Amino acid sequence: MAAPIRRPHDSVDFEAVVRLYPPAPEFFESRWLDEPDRLEQLSLGRLRTELERAAHIGFYRRLWAESGFEPRRVRSLDDAPNIPRYTVDDIRASIALDPPFGDYQGQSVAERHKEPARLFFSGGTTGSSRPTFYTPWDREVGGLLTARAYYLAGLRPGDLVLNSWAYGIHQGAACADEALYRWLGATPITTSSGQVTPTIRQLEIAAEYGAASILTIGDYLLHMARVAHEAGLDPKKDFAIRCFPVPTGGLGAQIEEAWGAPAYDSYGFHEVNYVAIECPARGGLHVLEDAFVVHVVDVDTGEPLPDGEQGNLVVHCLYKTGSAQIGYNTQDLARLYPRSRCACGSWMRKMDYFAGRSDNMIKLRGTNVWPEAVGKVATAHPGVGAEYFVVAETVDARDELTVRVESELAGTDAAGPVSEEIAQDLRAKLGVRIRTEVVAVGELDGATGRLTLSKPKRFEDRRDRN
Ligand SMILES: [Zn+2]
Repeated sequence: MAAPIRRPHDSVDFEAVVRLYPPAPEFFESRWLDEPDRLEQLSLGRLRTELERAAHIGFYRRLWAESGFEPRRVRSLDDAPNIPRYTVDDIRASIALDPPFGDYQGQSVAERHKEPARLFFSGGTTGSSRPTFYTPWDREVGGLLTARAYYLAGLRPGDLVLNSWAYGIHQGAACADEALYRWLGATPITTSSGQVTPTIRQLEIAAEYGAASILTIGDYLLHMARVAHEAGLDPKKDFAIRCFPVPTGGLGAQIEEAWGAPAYDSYGFHEVNYVAIECPARGGLHVLEDAFVVHVVDVDTGEPLPDGEQGNLVVHCLYKTGSAQIGYNTQDLARLYPRSRCACGSWMRKMDYFAGRSDNMIKLRGTNVWPEAVGKVATAHPGVGAEYFVVAETVDARDELTVRVESELAGTDAAGPVSEEIAQDLRAKLGVRIRTEVVAVGELDGATGRLTLSKPKRFEDRRDRN
């Protein structure tokens, strides 16, 4: 007889999933409100278990052997910064060493028939794509964590929700779908991006069927609001949108203004889904501490930084059973707030909103500049849209930065004064001269890929390398 096929419901102990990671709404009445001691004890126990597991994965065995690290030496959360760290470059090296999957997957090719898996790719914005296998357990817990974010933002069972994430080789759309359908009791309408279902058709569906939310990136929500206006629809009156759980990309206030509904930010990345979520009390994002331990290290020295100081966010993911994420230096700039009880009642620690990527930092005539900071200043100017793209180039052997913004004024006499004012504003706020160009609305779509990528691209380094 042929070997039986193991299916997700054979592979996942669902009772264990909900016991270990309470889903919404139970979560918000239990662990969300736990005292710090209890939370930290839970995180530490899970971290130690995950370290033991990762010790059997080739990638970590090599990484840890190089620095003589022994997982047994992690006895408190204060020891977490001693865990060796890696960046996306180490993942690329792992793929080069053991192509095409790398030795970080936690599951060998020979074992793969034992349970079903999903394969998604990350890295559309910087460099080549990186594959990650997800076990059924990892899909379920990842979806459950995402559903917590949706519930906290205000989505409820029975809600119709447009899933406008681009279905593709990355897992954004699948994750939203699984969270809504499997863990929230909500009903996804899978429109995918504007390339699959035209934006106007998505808007018609949202209006006609009373969608409670649209899940996508912040940029696309603003684009949708513009298209709605052009079609004679009022985003505030002709829709039943209640909230937007969305990685806002700093566009939260503009999204709320455009749609008249609250936007709640989040932080996460491809391999682990949601790490931190914004509560209605605002003032930063709560780290989901039953699933993650995080800390911040200096961008240059790698030394652990005290609360309040900005550096690279290091994430230790506690819940996975396939590829582990232990000591991942995300190179995302963040700061942690000292632990205190939030007005929402939670003790889960908070981090600041996403501030940019440290590997995008450019040293321009002695000043450190981040493209995200340039974009924030440039797009705050009246008369220009929310889109921007920053290019670093070598001009006459000097590094120069140019920011391009979109405006209806492009090509008119008014464009010159606008770009001059933005350049002056950039110089005043960032302390360095940055060239500014005003281009037509929609002209940056190709460069940013905002209608197709899971995260729009904002920066390109075209400097000569020597
Ligand atoms: Zn809170």
